[in-house]
Amino acid sequence: MRHQRTVVVSTALGLALAGLGAIPATAAPSATSATSATSAYVHGSTYAGSAKEAANNKAFYDAVMKSVAKKRAANPLAASVTVYYSTRNAPSFRSQISQSAQIWNSSVQNVRLAESSSGADFSYYEGNDPNGSYASTDGHGSGYIFLDYQQNQQYYSVRVVAHETGHVLGLPDHYSGPCSELMSGGGPGTSCRNAYPNSTEKSRVNSLWRNGLATAFKPAA
Ligand SMILES: [Zn+2]
Repeated sequence: MRHQRTVVVSTALGLALAGLGAIPATAAPSATSATSATSAYVHGSTYAGSAKEAANNKAFYDAVMKSVAKKRAANPLAASVTVYYSTRNAPSFRSQISQSAQIWNSSVQNVRLAESSSGADFSYYEGNDPNGSYASTDGHGSGYIFLDYQQNQQYYSVRVVAHETGHVLGLPDHYSGPCSELMSGGGPGTSCRNAYPNSTEKSRVNSLWRNGLATAFKPAA
């Protein structure tokens, strides 16, 4: 049953969101929070702990990879792994999300992004949050990308979405990087309109997912 786990994940996320209010706007990190933010688009005060961000990025990637490993086991001869996303909870950003998927799919070979109306691996959400946009996970198999309305008006929205999606693919933040680097996020300022990963970022994602495939081929422990 491919979808069994996804149902569980969706339920867990729903419960987590219910506990946080109508939108995941209060998912700011705290020492005891079950849901911790991984990374904001800009280096905000709430997300000052870069070591914590890096650890959460890793947890988010690991959570996605667990789902990918199951897909891989079900279809071991496929040339790449497809990660499915849902836009149901981010209807205002469907165009930007689609452009982000096209950007990533034209930039890397070992992983594909595709929209799915059911059984998605991760979901996009939209709303208002003073922390801006971010990717988040509880480190136990569920994750989401939150897109903040105001920030997506201040910054180039396709870049914001592609950046946050980069976290799902395993890339950490690097705010001090130039505009040509996708994971520099809001670091280069609001005028930056590059929404493509640079060659280093592309190589890193391809490498991560090639390793992911090797991991997925191992017998389950
Ligand atoms: Zn980020």
